Amino acid sequence: MVFLALEHNMARGVYFYTCPNCGGPTGDDRLLTRLPCPKCLDERVAVEDIVEVYELLQKNGKLRRDSDLAFYARVEQEARKVEELFEKATGSRLWSAQRMWVRRVLKGKSFAIIAPTGVGKTTFGVLMAVYFASKGEKSYIILPTTPLVVMVEEKARKLAEAAGVPAKILAIHSKLKTRERRERLKRFLETDFDILITTSKFLLSKLDTIKAVAKKFNGFRFIFVDDVDAVLKSGKSVDAILRIVGFTDEDIRLGLEMLKLQREIARLPQKLRKMESREEVRETIKEHYSKLKSLQEKIEEAKKRASVLVVSSATGRPRGARVRLFKVLLGFEAGSRSEILRNIVDAYTFPDHSSKLEDKVAEIVERLGDGGLVYVPVDKGVEYAEKLAELLRNRGIAAEAFTSKNYFALERFRKGETSVLVGVAIYYGVAVRGLDLPERIRYAVFAGVPRLKFSAKFEDPHPVNVLRALGLLVEHGPKDVSQRAEELLARLRRIVQRLSQAALARLAEELRSGKLESPYANTFLEAVKFVREALRREDVWRCLEEAPDIAIVRESGKAYILIPDVATYIQASGRTSRLYAGGITKGLSVVVADNSKLLEGLIRRTRWWVEAEWKRFEELDLPKLLREIDEDREKVRAVVEGRVKPSEARELVKTALMVVESPNKARTIASFFGRPSSRQVGPLKVYEVSTGDYVLLITASGGHVYDLVKPVKPTPKISKRWLMDELQGSVEGIDWSRAVNVQGVIYDGENYLPIYGPILRCKLCGNQWTPDPAEPSSLEKCPRCGSQFVNNSQEVVKALRELASEVDVVLIGTDPDTEGEKIGWDVASLLAPTAKSIARIEFHEITRKAILEALRNPRPFKESLVEAQIVRRVEDRWIGFTLSPVLWLEFWPKFCKVVLSEPSKSKRLS
Ligand SMILES: [Zn+2]
Ligand SMILES: [Zn+2]
Repeated sequence: MVFLALEHNMARGVYFYTCPNCGGPTGDDRLLTRLPCPKCLDERVAVEDIVEVYELLQKNGKLRRDSDLAFYARVEQEARKVEELFEKATGSRLWSAQRMWVRRVLKGKSFAIIAPTGVGKTTFGVLMAVYFASKGEKSYIILPTTPLVVMVEEKARKLAEAAGVPAKILAIHSKLKTRERRERLKRFLETDFDILITTSKFLLSKLDTIKAVAKKFNGFRFIFVDDVDAVLKSGKSVDAILRIVGFTDEDIRLGLEMLKLQREIARLPQKLRKMESREEVRETIKEHYSKLKSLQEKIEEAKKRASVLVVSSATGRPRGARVRLFKVLLGFEAGSRSEILRNIVDAYTFPDHSSKLEDKVAEIVERLGDGGLVYVPVDKGVEYAEKLAELLRNRGIAAEAFTSKNYFALERFRKGETSVLVGVAIYYGVAVRGLDLPERIRYAVFAGVPRLKFSAKFEDPHPVNVLRALGLLVEHGPKDVSQRAEELLARLRRIVQRLSQAALARLAEELRSGKLESPYANTFLEAVKFVREALRREDVWRCLEEAPDIAIVRESGKAYILIPDVATYIQASGRTSRLYAGGITKGLSVVVADNSKLLEGLIRRTRWWVEAEWKRFEELDLPKLLREIDEDREKVRAVVEGRVKPSEARELVKTALMVVESPNKARTIASFFGRPSSRQVGPLKVYEVSTGDYVLLITASGGHVYDLVKPVKPTPKISKRWLMDELQGSVEGIDWSRAVNVQGVIYDGENYLPIYGPILRCKLCGNQWTPDPAEPSSLEKCPRCGSQFVNNSQEVVKALRELASEVDVVLIGTDPDTEGEKIGWDVASLLAPTAKSIARIEFHEITRKAILEALRNPRPFKESLVEAQIVRRVEDRWIGFTLSPVLWLEFWPKFCKVVLSEPSKSKRLS
C-alpha cells in the first residue's frame, strides 16, 4: 500500500497545535513524514515509525514526556514486547486484529471484541494476562462455564510456561474437590496469584470478597470476560463486572444519571421548538450542557481508577438498560455481530430409504474423510450421538461422540487421533459453541434437520419454549389465535431478553411445578395456558398440519411439533468456515433430511440470515470443493504455525481505519457488514466490522477539520508581525524577513503558505470560527456570545490519531470531489504522525459493492485537486475581505500562476 507520496519537502500549509511533540504549529510536509516541527527536530530524516522519532528526540534532548508522541511511542514499544512474548509462547505471530487489541489494552482502553470465535480472542486474553504477570500485575479472566474455566486454566499454564513467565495461575470452579477448593480459596484470599480464572457465577456470589481482595493490590490491571453474551444477561452481572473494574455505587449512579441526561438531550430540539423566548432556549441548552460537562468530568475521574476491561462476544446481543452503562462508563457498546461472514456451501440430500438415514450419513462421511462434525437433532439426544459414532466406527471411520461428559474427545480430534466428532445440535451445546478449530474442521453433516421439538400437550413450559410456541401460533394459527399470540409474544420477548440463564431456569422450574414466585411468572403462566388451550383446538391442528415448513410427528401415540432450528444450524455449520488471519476459510455443510417439510423450512429461513445458496449434495463438484477447502486449511495452519513470511503477509487480513465525512455515511457503510459494534473515542463514534479482507474501523471527520485562521488584529501588545514571529522556525523555506500575512496566508514575495487552525463551534449560538492564535481564550470561549460550551475539532484530531495508532492502514474515504480531496489531505496530515500507512479510497455510491471495490483499490492523493481546493479557499477568504488594490494586483496573479500553471516547479502551496 502506498504511503502518501510527497514529491518535495515543502509545506502546503501550516497547521496550528499539531506538532506531536510540542503541540505547536507545523507543516503538512513534516506531519506526513511523521516528523515533529523543525523546532523540535531540525534535521529532516526518513523515519520508519513513531518509535524512531521518539528515540531521535530522546537523543537531542527535546522530547516532551507528556506529549502524544511520547505516549504512542511508549505504547508501541510495549506492544512489541507483548508480540515477542506471544511468539515465544505460541511459536507464531500475532495477527493484525490481535495486534490492534494489544495496543488498545496498553493504552488503557476498555473495549468489546466483536470477531467470531476462531480468531484467537481467548488466546489474546490469556496472553495479555501472562504479560502483565511478567510485570507483577494481576489479571482476572471470567468465563461462563466450569469446563471453560478448566480449559482456559490449562491454556494459561501452557502459554506461561512456554513464554518462560513464572505466572501464578489460580482457577476456581465447581469441579474442585472440597479440600482443593478450600486451598485455592485460601490462596485467593491471600492474593497469592497473578491470574485469577473463575466462572461468572463465582463473581456474582463472591462479589464483595473479590472486591476486598482486589483492594489489597489496588485493583486488577486487566479483566477479560469471555463470551459476554452468556455473562451479561442479567443487570446484576453488569453491575458486578463494573464493580470489579473499580467503579463505586456512586459512579454507577452517575452513569445512570448520564444515560438519563443523554435521553433528555436527544429530546431537547422538540422541547426547544415550543419555547417562546430566545433567552429561555439559551438557558435551557446551557443548563443541559453544564450538567453534561460536570457529569463528564466526574466520570472521567472515575475512569482513571478503573481496570482495563475487555469483553468478547461471538454472537447474540447483550441487552438491557444496564448494559448501556458500559457505554457511558467505559466508552463502548458490547454490541454484536451476526455470523454473516461465512463462506460455506450449504447442501442437502435425502436418505435412499427412510430407515437408512445413518447409512447415508456414513456414506457421506466416507466420501468427505477426515475433519468432520456430525450433528444429531436435539430430540434424539446424546444416546443417539453415541450410537451413531459407534456405527461409524463399525464402518472403519475413527469417530467419537463429543458431549459435555466426554470433553477429551475434542483433544483427540484436535490431535488428529480421531477423524470425526458426533455431537448434538443444540444452540448452547459444546459441539455447537465449544469448537474452535479452523485448521481441523473441514465439513459438517447433519443427521436429520436441526430442530426444536415440543409435545402437543406442551408439558415442558420452559420460557424459551413458550416463546417458540407463540411464534408458531403467530405464523400458522387461525386469525384469533394468531393475534392473541402476537400480543403475548411481544410482551414475553422483552422479559426473556432481560433474564439471565439462571433466572430462566428458575422460572421454568416454577412453571413446571406450579409454585410461582418469580416476577413475571404469572405472565408466563397465562401464556402457557393460552398455548395449551390453543393446542386443544382442532382447527389449530389443521392449520399446523398444513404449514409448509414445520412437521407434526407421532411417537407412541403422542403428537409432537417440530420446528427447524435455524440459529443452531448457522452456528453449527459455521464451525466449518472461520475468519482467520488470512481471510475466511471455505467450508461445507450437508443436511441429510429426515423430513422434507422441515428441510423446506430450514432452507427458507436460513436465507433470511445469511447469503446461503442451497444445492443438492449429489450435484456438487466434490473434488474441486474439497481441494479448495484443503488449501484454506493449509493456509490456516501456516498462519497458526508461524510459517507465513512477512512478504506473504500482504495477502492476510488487515486492520484498517476508514474515515468518511458524514456520521450518517459511516453508520450506513458499517451496516453493510452485519450489525456493527461501536465505541466512542472522544467526540467520534467508531463502528467496527469485518469485511473478510479487513477488520475495519469506520468513523466520520464531520467535514473539514481545519480551516484558514482569522487574521490577527494588531493591538498595542500584539505587533503586526506577531503571527510571522510566532511561526518563524516552525516551517522551513520561508524568507521570514520579507514575509507578510495576507488574511491568513503568509507571502514572502515568492512563496505562499496558508495557516490553518482548528474549527470551533459554539453549542449555544451555533457560531463557527477558527481561533485567533494571539488570543488563547478564543479556543475556549465563543467570541459572539461568550459561551464556554464549544466543540473543538482538535478533539477530533486527537481521536483520529488514537485510532490511527491501532491499525495497519488508514483509508481516507472523504467525498470524491475537489473539496473531499482537500478534507482528506488535512485529515491524513493531522493523523499521520501515529499512522503506519495512509491511502485514499474513492467511491461514488454508498453500496456494499462500491465500498468493497473502493477498499480493494486504494490510491495516492491527487495533489492537483488538493491544490485547486487550496486556491479556491484562499480566493473565498480574500473576496470576503477587502484587500488593498496593490496587494490584489501583485498578489493574486502571482498566486494563481505559482499554484496553477507551474505545479511541478512551484514551491510553496504546491
Ligand atoms: Zn514541535
Ligand atoms: Zn456562541
